[in-house]
Amino acid sequence: MPDLFIDGTWCDAADGATRDIHCPADGRHVVTVSEGGEKDAVAAVVAARSAFDNGPWPGTPAPERAALLHRLADRLEADKDEVARLESLDTGKRFVESQIDVDDIVSVFRHFAALAQAEAGRVVDTGMPDVVSRVVHEPIGVCSLITPWNYPLLQTSWKVAPCLAAGNTFVLKPSELTPSTAIWLVRALSDVGLPDGVANLVLGAGDRVGPTLTEAPEVDLVSFTGGVVTGRRIMASAAPTVKKVALELGGKNPNIVFADADLDAAIDNALTAVFLDSGQVCSAGARLVVEDTVHDRVVDELVRRAGRIRLGGPFDDEAETGPLISAAHREKVEAYVAAGLAEGATLRVGGARPEGAAYDDGFYYLPTILDDCSADMSCVQEESFGPVLTVERFTGGDADALEEAAVSIANDTVYGLAGAVWTSDAGRAQRVAARLRHGTIWINDYHPYVAQAEWGGYKQSGTGRELGIAGLEEYRETKHIWHNTRPARADWFSDDREDIQA
Ligand code: NAD
Repeated sequence: MPDLFIDGTWCDAADGATRDIHCPADGRHVVTVSEGGEKDAVAAVVAARSAFDNGPWPGTPAPERAALLHRLADRLEADKDEVARLESLDTGKRFVESQIDVDDIVSVFRHFAALAQAEAGRVVDTGMPDVVSRVVHEPIGVCSLITPWNYPLLQTSWKVAPCLAAGNTFVLKPSELTPSTAIWLVRALSDVGLPDGVANLVLGAGDRVGPTLTEAPEVDLVSFTGGVVTGRRIMASAAPTVKKVALELGGKNPNIVFADADLDAAIDNALTAVFLDSGQVCSAGARLVVEDTVHDRVVDELVRRAGRIRLGGPFDDEAETGPLISAAHREKVEAYVAAGLAEGATLRVGGARPEGAAYDDGFYYLPTILDDCSADMSCVQEESFGPVLTVERFTGGDADALEEAAVSIANDTVYGLAGAVWTSDAGRAQRVAARLRHGTIWINDYHPYVAQAEWGGYKQSGTGRELGIAGLEEYRETKHIWHNTRPARADWFSDDREDIQA
């Protein structure tokens, strides 16, 4: 079945290439899809450009754009289990988690549908009665949307929903490992009435499809979610044409536990923070920063519970978390743990593949805790993107010194995506939250987010924001229109100076 969608037509890759997708939980063949390349990317960019310059979508009134997004959300609700099944087969994640993702995706489309109609610019008071000065928003143009494999449709929705709400056209390139829900989405958008050429889909490897999407002069914006190394490359390749670039990159997110916290809740949430989806979450709380006086109590209990986490495939009702995405990724996680141990970390639990025939055909790795870590270790500084928790302690003489110690450890990273602080002292919670250089801070919680609030990173975790209000602004240009309703001479330059000869 042709899986590339270019200018309203489903087509095979120009060179006929295909790719087999296998479930990382058990190796079963899921689907064979078209594998696009440079030619397909060029065709998709041309189609998106033409649809933006000549098609009806950019000029479609906001209420109609919003209605289409609502129809898409309705379709997602109706097909929830089918979409979740596709997502789970591609990623290996638990079916119930994929169902939750679909609920979140629905709220993302409904949020941007509402926001699209919320305001139509503003009138500026110039102090001049004959002048009407308006600031208006317009779609930015053609957008290249490049997404990762860990939350394939969720990350895609954070881009597609505001992109369409603002009136843009796009070329979507999902991760080559997880194409199925992107295909579903583009088909559904077409079904609910999106004009041809507005949504284009090119599947394929990043190094084959990506350069065209980031370099082509016809593209106005690149929105990318993925690793920091790829993000740097994309920023550089977009620079010669001065495209707007939005980057959602990795994180090495501190989860700070003060001794005065509700430790039962802190410990329970610390497990979810790092081991949800086997740690393949950009905001995973992979770095436990715990007050020295409660270190043993907290870490002993985490070790006990991490050792009991049940691994399994997407449709195993007993499973609490699933496999890693690929053999290559598991090897990367293994190398990361080995480097941590070589640098002096203490392995408290995990650090190996699980044993048993049930795991032989999947890319499983045991929940792992590395204790006695410090900020100079690679396992503390680098993102593992796997089920690995590093533990650092902090201590301090008085309350201020204690907070200072926790904050300075938590900020000692090139990343700045998310972090949490656990304490029963509300003043301390606010002081620490204010000083953390991360884009999302949870106080006495971990992981929740809503479509109405911005998401994004400080420092090398990225540029720009998704969701919230800023998530729509990324996809808009701002124009100032000055209208003098009573034209008059400016008389800046004289037209009758007698001292100058013509
Ligand atoms: P990745 O960078 O390897 O790939 C991401 C996407 O970029 C894929 O579609 C890939 O094909 C494409 N790509 C690769 N090379 C490219 C190139 N030269 N030009 C254009 N596109 C190219 O990342 P991944 O392994 O798929 O995802 C994991 C990473 O994503 C982690 O670092 C994680 O932290 C990050 N992530 C961040 C967020 C966030 O919100 N900040 C969310 C999810 C994932």
